[in-house]
Amino acid sequence: MRIAIARDSAFGFYYPGDLEALEAAGAELVAFDTLIDRRLPEADGLFIGGGFPESHLKALEANVSMRTHIRDAIEMGMPAYAECGGLMYLARSLSWRGEKRKMAGVIPADAVMHSRPQGRGYTRLRETGKGPWPMRTEGGGRAEFAAHEFHYSSLENISGPVEFAYEVVRGVGVDGEHDGIVYKNLLAGFAHLRDTEANRWTGRFVNFVRATRESGAYRISGPVANQQDGAKANVSPWPDQVSRVYLVGAGPGDPALLTVRARHLIEEADIVVYDRLVSDEILAVIPPGTTRLFAGKAARDHFMPQDEVNELLVRLARSGRRVVRLKGGDPFIFGRGSEEALNLAEHGISFEVVPGITASTGCTARAGIPLTHRGVSRSVTFIAGHRQDGQDLDLNWKALADTKSTLVIYMGLSNTGEISRQLIAAGLPGFTPAAAIERGTTPEQRTVITTVADLPDCVKNEKFQAPTLLVIGEVVNFSENLNWASAVVGCGLEAHG
Ligand code: SAH
Repeated sequence: MRIAIARDSAFGFYYPGDLEALEAAGAELVAFDTLIDRRLPEADGLFIGGGFPESHLKALEANVSMRTHIRDAIEMGMPAYAECGGLMYLARSLSWRGEKRKMAGVIPADAVMHSRPQGRGYTRLRETGKGPWPMRTEGGGRAEFAAHEFHYSSLENISGPVEFAYEVVRGVGVDGEHDGIVYKNLLAGFAHLRDTEANRWTGRFVNFVRATRESGAYRISGPVANQQDGAKANVSPWPDQVSRVYLVGAGPGDPALLTVRARHLIEEADIVVYDRLVSDEILAVIPPGTTRLFAGKAARDHFMPQDEVNELLVRLARSGRRVVRLKGGDPFIFGRGSEEALNLAEHGISFEVVPGITASTGCTARAGIPLTHRGVSRSVTFIAGHRQDGQDLDLNWKALADTKSTLVIYMGLSNTGEISRQLIAAGLPGFTPAAAIERGTTPEQRTVITTVADLPDCVKNEKFQAPTLLVIGEVVNFSENLNWASAVVGCGLEAHG
């Protein structure tokens, strides 16, 4: 017995204990995404909780396929429960700040967001008996229970007689007197219920979903037959074909350093999947109605594993959206852009790679450090300075300790000590100039200029943080005369010889 549950950036407010209670009552919860997925997963029931649909108006409207599928499923009798944000999504339309967008159109009313709460605090509701899974009291009286409401929205232009599952004993609900709109097997209200001893709503809902399934009255499996309005209902702004994925370099941080192509693609995208390195200034270029997905940390300090990102890009491309995968710097320089491109290629999905200004060129230009200079440095080497699984850095230090070459180190901040020691041990003089550039090209750029020997203490004293780029070589000296833009900080160390 499966219950589809909306968990995405528009909806996701659920009491954790309630989800466990639904599972304990025998439901398998299957998450779906109202912004990305084109249809509901195979399921016997539907649950859409609270959230922020008003922040995703354009994307929710644009996902015609999902809206239609949900409407058809409920029309055909799928047991469904929606709270607050979910209720707004099931209305005909949702308006906020003068923008009115079409929603799923199950509830014959328009939802409107206001700047002040319309209902707030604890409510007391009494069953009318019209709800699909009412609480029964022993004496046959109508059960009462406490719930919680916190909504900035109201339902307007309710057309036709509407049935309600609850009378409001205390609180606001839909109209001060009722809450819990009932339509076929849907119950949608402003109230947030919480599964407690006094109101075991999850068990009743699960039993109702199970009974509906067993009666054979309703089940989605595979595509829902769409008898109501024929093929027209499935018209989507996204063609059914698979779309192309754009792997776009965002450059080091300054939006003025985006390429024209990158900027154009960002402005035209349906969805932008970005990672940690993409600066706030660049994110501000994404148009307000465009869906953004952060593929950096899935939870606190926990990165979305690369497999998941790969799978996400394939799924998005197959949904027909214009997908921009936005990466800091250049996607093909220590950006795992090639891994994502390989995966797309393996799945037969077309892609385009848009180069970006990589940290090496962006940060050094801002710090007045030429990567090469005739007679001083004739080559540049980019290396990754982080270790794999706690092992020593596996680099050819002899080759890197070259006074006639420039060495640029990405991701090296936490291993500055080892890098400095190894280079000196391999023969690079300790007085070789070195720079660390933090958050290069953003308004917060900081640069320290020092020597290879002092670099580790320097970045430690100055508390440098990621992203920081390290540059080692004689060319660093030029910053004294060429530093046209950024603040150079001292690090209060005696010069070593
Ligand atoms: N694809 C990116 C690099 C990703 S690796 C590019 O081409 O730039 C991440 C490392 O890049 C960071 O650890 C840091 O060393 C460097 N980096 C990226 N952006 C930076 C910035 N704005 N300032 C300083 N270093 C940066």
